Amino acid sequence: MKLDVNVLRYLSKDDFRVLTAVEMGMRNHEIVPCELIDRIARLKHGGTYKVLKNLLKHKLVHHDSSKYDGFRLTYLGYDFLAIKTLVNRGIFSGVGRQLGVGKESDIFEVVKEDGTVLAMKLHRLGRVSFRAVKSKRDYLRHRSNYNWLYLSRLAALKEFAFMKALEEHGFSVPQAVDCNRHCVIMSLVPGYPLVQVKELQNPDVVFETIIGAVIRLAEHGLIHCDFNEFNIMIDDDEKVTMIDFPQMVSVSHPNAQMYFDRDVECIYKFFAKRFNMSFEENENNSDGSEVEIDEIGRPQFSEINKNSGFLDKELAASGFTRKDQAELEKLIEGDLEKHSDSDDEGTGDDEDEEDEADINNTNVKQLESLHLAKEDDNHQVGEEPDPQDEGEGETESEDDPELEKSLSKQRRKAIQAAHRGKKNFASRNTYKDKGGKSSQSSKVHKQLSGW
Ligand code: ADP
Ligand code: MG
Repeated sequence: MKLDVNVLRYLSKDDFRVLTAVEMGMRNHEIVPCELIDRIARLKHGGTYKVLKNLLKHKLVHHDSSKYDGFRLTYLGYDFLAIKTLVNRGIFSGVGRQLGVGKESDIFEVVKEDGTVLAMKLHRLGRVSFRAVKSKRDYLRHRSNYNWLYLSRLAALKEFAFMKALEEHGFSVPQAVDCNRHCVIMSLVPGYPLVQVKELQNPDVVFETIIGAVIRLAEHGLIHCDFNEFNIMIDDDEKVTMIDFPQMVSVSHPNAQMYFDRDVECIYKFFAKRFNMSFEENENNSDGSEVEIDEIGRPQFSEINKNSGFLDKELAASGFTRKDQAELEKLIEGDLEKHSDSDDEGTGDDEDEEDEADINNTNVKQLESLHLAKEDDNHQVGEEPDPQDEGEGETESEDDPELEKSLSKQRRKAIQAAHRGKKNFASRNTYKDKGGKSSQSSKVHKQLSGW
């Protein structure tokens, strides 16, 4: 299954209305009962089922009737919602070739009306770390907002917030343009990931720039945590740009020292192997910072004057809170522990195989222009706030008592209708769970470390 943006053009207002209804239902359901979709979408002339069939045909939703008749969004469905929102905002107007398949993302070129090419990163949290996430299911079971949409959206928001903050502090990162759902739009970085570079004119300079960036990050209170040859871009003038921020942690993280040393080790190892650099000879070289160098020339975490909280204001301005960071850290920490040295690791979770197949075979036509009708932006779904609006996704339903109440009522009715006559049906998202959910989440928040 490819990301055929052509399909986007042929999707009607009703298609998007129903797709959005599935998305809204997923705030409380892993699989959204058909009845609930119908009630949220409130199509004027009915026909939700016909629309669902069309969405299914285009693999925008997945049908599941194992427990009851319902649907969930696929990655592609979620992609389409984000892409449509961003196109309607005028951020870009066409999608081009795929730039990269990361561990937890797909990156595409997108083009603006004026021809400027940008990069679009679609987060796929769960592709690799799904096992880690899965192992936390006990913790997550009572959380109505648990699913890959939530995690991917949080990762995207984090990446966007960090990119913006780092840019404002003079770091060489892509320019953050916009963010919606699991999708981040940023400037296109010229050049290639360092892993593809076989030769450098000035490996010493590049090396020092990179190690200097690791140190400066720590001085700003941050550790990249995945700082390696896959996440460093280098252009023809050997200018270095760092990318990929969803896993960053604070220098006050309990494992900060380990993450810092690991980032440094990755760079040393790579430069030694790829560019035959010998670090013993560099013993007396200064890298320009005030950090002391030990006998093998490495910056020491303990010697860095770390200023945590440096970027707080900027991050908060993008809507990414400490709570979000704590949440994300908690959920992906298993993945962080794992040393990551390859961007094309296998996946390997049956549950997501279908979606993974979808995204791995993505093959996009060159710069398809989407020409979406602007009017589509204004549609209303049920009585809920317009999910296409700015700020959508930034608010969980539990933060909106009205929405939660209305969804709960609809859910109860829908489940009753959908399961009339079915015995022993137990949803993961019944009312009983709700108390558990909030008590569980507040308990967890209290335990979480700052960043
Ligand atoms: P992941 O988190 O999945 O590892 P990355 O952000 O590292 O994703 O991106 C994966 C690949 O996509 C990168 O190695 C790079 O080749 C390409 N890429 C990412 N962002 C950009 C960008 N802004 N400009 C150009 N290429 C990019
Ligand atoms: Mg990466």
